[in-house]
Amino acid sequence: MSNIEPEFGCLVTDRQKSLPSRADVVIVGGGVIGLSIAYYLTKKGVKGILVLEKGMLGEGSTAKCAGGIRTHFSTEINIRCSMVSLKVFEGFKEEFGADPEFHRVGYLFMASAEAQWALLRENARLLARLGLEAELPGPSEMQRRWPFLRVDDLAGGAFTPDDGYAGPYEVLQGFAKKARQGGAVIREHVEVTGIRVTKGRVQAVDFSGGMVRTPVVINAAGPYAARIAAMAGLDLPVFPLRRQIFFTDLFDDLPAQFPMFIDMEHGWYMRREGRGLLLAGPQDAESSFSEKVDFEAREWTAERGLHRVPVLEKARIARGWAGLYEISPDHHAVMGAFPEVEGFICANGFSGHGFQHSPAAGILISELVTEGEARTLDIHSLRPARFREGDLIHEPLTAFRD
Ligand SMILES: Cc1cc2nc3c(=O)[nH]c(=O)nc-3n(C[C@H](O)[C@H](O)[C@H](O)COP(=O)(O)OP(=O)(O)OC[C@H]3O[C@@H](n4cnc5c(N)ncnc54)[C@H](O)[C@@H]3O)c2cc1C
Repeated sequence: MSNIEPEFGCLVTDRQKSLPSRADVVIVGGGVIGLSIAYYLTKKGVKGILVLEKGMLGEGSTAKCAGGIRTHFSTEINIRCSMVSLKVFEGFKEEFGADPEFHRVGYLFMASAEAQWALLRENARLLARLGLEAELPGPSEMQRRWPFLRVDDLAGGAFTPDDGYAGPYEVLQGFAKKARQGGAVIREHVEVTGIRVTKGRVQAVDFSGGMVRTPVVINAAGPYAARIAAMAGLDLPVFPLRRQIFFTDLFDDLPAQFPMFIDMEHGWYMRREGRGLLLAGPQDAESSFSEKVDFEAREWTAERGLHRVPVLEKARIARGWAGLYEISPDHHAVMGAFPEVEGFICANGFSGHGFQHSPAAGILISELVTEGEARTLDIHSLRPARFREGDLIHEPLTAFRD
């Protein structure tokens, strides 16, 4: 076996390498969340970190992600997670030596109903209270700035100029590289099959081909999070939900740069993808692990697109894919420990925002592990026990997911 460390996307696999028999922390899942946590733990000086990924790094939801990064949310905790993460994306090149391809083109939410626009105005007040800017253009202002939009059925919009999108692949690669440099051991093609708990404490993790002793397991298994929690005898209400996405061929009938446009009425969105376009398809109503792309979804996407951006009649959908959101009952992340099993920590349920909140997740969970609590933000409201306690987070704007 060569001694070249495998990088994300490289053909070299490390499945043959031996695994340590002990680790200080085992992270289940090598997506953007698990790798961010691994990196921030190394930054805090934790040595024995083992990341186990059943497939290849980033092949789960992270690979399917649209890359959206926004500050515009309707709850303070989500906005604060965005603010923490945004700082990391802004300094990513310097910190990770890799370009995250952060396009700061802004986000434009477009509301059809007056009540939706009222929500956007309320969000803008919340953003302003937290020191962030949101413009509130009416239909004529939107028409002036983006003449290719159909606005006659819109009540108004909210534009956050500092938002945009970045490359999930590039960001994941940055986290993986720096985590490895910090001493984390990252293994692909190793599936976690069990978690041993004795007297309310995590003791070990079983995986395909062996077992590793550890006092701390971090669940970063994305849409599979509930299965990992069940291995420790815990009930984690995080479920998978399919979302489809489509790409067009090169399309030069629109400007080279424009914001991420979000049509709140249908949850349709559009952004540039190189010289082509990325168009959001529908998200399922029913939970499943299906990742099939279907014809009806393509039709849905084309219809919503043509309605909002009529020039799309000249565009051609070239391909599409489907991925899984990892949804929690209140559409907010689940970050924290379960009181009944010491050493089992969740970083799950990001509900469509896991990419953009991955830096915050890494920072917060690394603090929780090393200092006993998250210090950068108060994440009590995100604790796993909130569901059974009936203390869910109320989010007025639930119509849209990235
Ligand atoms: C179509 C789509 C568009 C999206 N757009 C956006 C967006 O614009 N902005 C945004 O912020 N978010 C977006 N998201 C959400 C975002 O992709 C996710 O929130 C994020 O990728 C979650 O990262 P993760 O690391 O938790 O999960 P994943 O990337 O799924 O990683 C979990 C990993 O755990 C592994 N695993 C599972 N079980 C085991 C096991 N037993 N043993 C070992 N490994 C295991 C899996 O193989 C997987 O690689 C989108 C999602 C989809 C589907």
